[in-house]
Amino acid sequence: MIENDPPSDAAARRAIAPVICYPTATLPQPDMALYDAARQDVQETARVTVTPRDANYIVVPAGHFLRIHSVHGPQVGDLNLFNAHDLSERFYSGKTRALHGTHVTTGDRLWSSFPALRPMATITHDTLGWYGIDQYGGSVHDVIGTRCDPYTGRLLSGADYHHCCHSNLTRALADHTDMDLHDAEAHVHDVLNVFMCTGFTRDTGQYFMKASPVRPGDYLELFAEIDLLAVLSACPGGDCGAEHSSDVTQCYPLEMQVLAPDPARLLGWSSPQANGYDRSHGR
Ligand SMILES: [Zn+2]
Repeated sequence: MIENDPPSDAAARRAIAPVICYPTATLPQPDMALYDAARQDVQETARVTVTPRDANYIVVPAGHFLRIHSVHGPQVGDLNLFNAHDLSERFYSGKTRALHGTHVTTGDRLWSSFPALRPMATITHDTLGWYGIDQYGGSVHDVIGTRCDPYTGRLLSGADYHHCCHSNLTRALADHTDMDLHDAEAHVHDVLNVFMCTGFTRDTGQYFMKASPVRPGDYLELFAEIDLLAVLSACPGGDCGAEHSSDVTQCYPLEMQVLAPDPARLLGWSSPQANGYDRSHGR
């Protein structure tokens, strides 16, 4: 490859300070005090286990909390979220990243796809919030990875592995909806990597993972802003400290728990409307 010599003002161009693409000061702010009060007094209404190298689903009514628990050992989960009544409205990892950054924690929101583009869920508690950003630039709960899948595996290694998160999510969604596998697969989307510790290397800009700091007892808690279908895969990478897309790594189950608050605590909260853009696109 022939590269141009740097221009005489290269240093000055590099020295330009960055500008935040999407300043979030004008975003509708979640009422964290209301959520905090609501989460003090909750009743469990449903709970499912996600077995290792497989996925499971749960429906979370709007106004309820979803807790994703680490149990028995460090384990990463790949989460898909859908509007429970319309699978075409689903979690939009890329826009969530553009608005909140590469990793999410308490106070951040999980946004849905166009044209709705509204908060599907608000993160109300994160027992790993203490982790912050480590010396490698790594942090927890990323919206930069996509999900492990058999296609990339075949590209890189030539081998087929059937229990990647993409396939696990596909089977679980097919089970819930009675769709066939290929129809269900079309709805599987880029995930929230729950408990996964990732970043980009500073020297080459490559996506990296490292052993998750999650331990049994840790959980990530979301408040459902709309009726949600949550589908979670217990990644074959386990804590994702070494590799994924294989049966080599020790894996553990995850649990999803739905909690109902006292409705009186939600006075003042309402489910967000779909985005108000008229979709005329200049015509
Ligand atoms: Zn995975």
